[in-house]
Order: sequence, then C-alpha cells, then structure tokens
Amino acid sequence: SYAIGIDIGGTKTAIGLVSADGEVRAKVSLPTDQTVAPDIMVDRMAAAIQDILAAQGVHQAELIGIGVGAPGPLNTKEGKIAEPPNLRSWWNFPVVASLARYFSLQIRLENDATAAALAEKWLGAAKDAEHFVFVTISTGIGAGIYSHGKLITGASGNAGDVGHFVVDPSAGTCVCGQKGCWEYVASGTAVARQASALLSREVSSKEAFDLAAAGHTSIQELVAKVFENIGVGCVTLINTFDPEKLVIGGGVSQVGAPMFEAVREYVSKYALNPSGRQTPIVPAALHQDAGLIGAAALVHIPY
Ligand code: ADP
Ligand code: ZN
Repeated sequence: SYAIGIDIGGTKTAIGLVSADGEVRAKVSLPTDQTVAPDIMVDRMAAAIQDILAAQGVHQAELIGIGVGAPGPLNTKEGKIAEPPNLRSWWNFPVVASLARYFSLQIRLENDATAAALAEKWLGAAKDAEHFVFVTISTGIGAGIYSHGKLITGASGNAGDVGHFVVDPSAGTCVCGQKGCWEYVASGTAVARQASALLSREVSSKEAFDLAAAGHTSIQELVAKVFENIGVGCVTLINTFDPEKLVIGGGVSQVGAPMFEAVREYVSKYALNPSGRQTPIVPAALHQDAGLIGAAALVHIPY
C-alpha cells in the first residue's frame, strides 16, 4: 500500500509516493506560488499526484491516504492552515477540504516539525525511543514532541512551537512580537543577523559558521553564544519532557560536531535531573525527503 506525502513550504511544495516501508517511489517539487489562490495550487498538486500514479503504474485504489505537512500555526481540527508567517496567501485556507475535492481518501494534516518527528520515529534516529523531542534549527526553530509512545499534537495541532519560548528578553523583538524568543537568538537567521551587524555587510549563517571554523575571533564568539542559546532551549525541553533523547535536524544542524558538542556540554551542566544531564543528543537521520516522509508517515503509522 502507498501513501501520498505533501510537504508544503513557503517556496516549494514537495509531493511524493511513499511505500509502507518508507521508500520514496517517486516525487515532484512544485513552486509554492503565493500569487495564485491556494485552491489553484491544490489543483496543481492533484494533477501532479495523478501524473505520479500514472507514471508508477499505481492505481488510486492502492493509496491508503494523503498526509500533509505544513508550517504552523495550523488548525488541524478543522483541516486548515491558520496563520503561518511565511505562507500569508494561505491564511485560513481549508487545505484538507480542498484536497478532498479530488481524493476520497483519509487526509491528515500536521505541522511540518511534528511530521518530521514522526518520520524520525518511523525510520530515523528515534526508532527505539518512546519519549523524544525532535528539534529543527533552520530559518526558525520548531519541534515535534513524542511522549509515552505518542505524538503530542495539542488541541489544534500547534504543540511544539518551541521557537517562541522566551530565552533572552534582553535581546530584540521576534517576528511574533515577544522579546528574545529561542529562534530570535539561536536560529540560522539569528546567526546571519548578528554576523551581518558585526561585519557591517550581509553575511549568511553558512558563511558565519565557515568564518568561525576558520578562526575569525569575533564570529567565533558569536557562534559560541548561539550554540549556548541552542543548549538553553534544549535544557528547557529536557526539563519539561524528560525525553530519552533529543534529535536535532534542520539546516544549522549541518554544522555538525561543533554544534552537537557545545549543546551536549551545556546540557551536561544544566539539565536539572542527573539522568537529564546524560540525555543523548543526536543528529536527525532523515535530511533529504524528511518532510515528504514525515507527511506520508501521518498516514502509514499510527500516532
Ligand atoms: P528551511 O528553514 O527553509 O527549512 P533549512 O533547514 O535548510 O531550510 O535551514 C536554513 C537555515 O540553515 C539557513 O539559516 C541556512 O543558512 C542554514 N544552513 C543551511 N545549510 C547549512 C550548513 N551546511 N551549515 C550551516 N548552516 C546551514
Ligand atoms: Zn517569537
């Protein structure tokens, strides 16, 4: 049996045919064109799905459902996108009902980080865990929480929006209006913003990490502070959920060992309980296709 996974992002939407063992049999990427009505985007998605099925010789009767991962906030109870900052043209769009115009299948919608957590449980770094938190550190920060063998989605699908934990109120104002949110002080965007201010020119987070690795002192200090701030949020997650492990993914986690070592060091000092201080902090196993596989997981595995 197969599921369709749809990973809606601010710039592109990935659609894939995913088998029951998590293999991506076929996929396509469509630009998320925010100048057209989202219903039109769904028309395009439906056409892409029909093309994939035809090309793979898979009949619609072999599909068990469609999983959709999207940036939050959502209203999963109503099958709607709520108010994602980077998907403005989709605000309040009933994406599940729109897809149901084409497919009489179960259609499940969850926050993209929540879906990615389920993918890590299914096939990735958290296969053996009944309690873990998946954190994605990228343009922003998000999390998927898995506790007592279940995904914690909350009443409307918005649990895990940990990027807006306040970490440092003395820092500037976040997109959400609060001061010093975790993502304001610890995301890729935070690195780029601070490095650009320091060097008085536009510096990407990737360039900043490269400068730090090459020994640029003031950028090294900045990056060390960001890694410490990542640790601060991780301690809060450990103190809150008592997980068996933390799984970290997203673009910034590609920095690898320097980030993981700094976060482990911080957690080993400041997590409140002795076992929490030993929490394994591991890289996500799924990178490419993580969003797609997570979306398909919403259909393939119970949560
Ligand atoms: P998105 O936020 O769209 O999900 P990513 O997960 O790729 O995308 O995260 C993008 C952020 O991660 C950017 O701030 C980018 O500069 C940073 N990033 C991407 N790749 C790397 C890398 N190899 N090393 C360090 N930072 C990276
Ligand atoms: Zn915020």
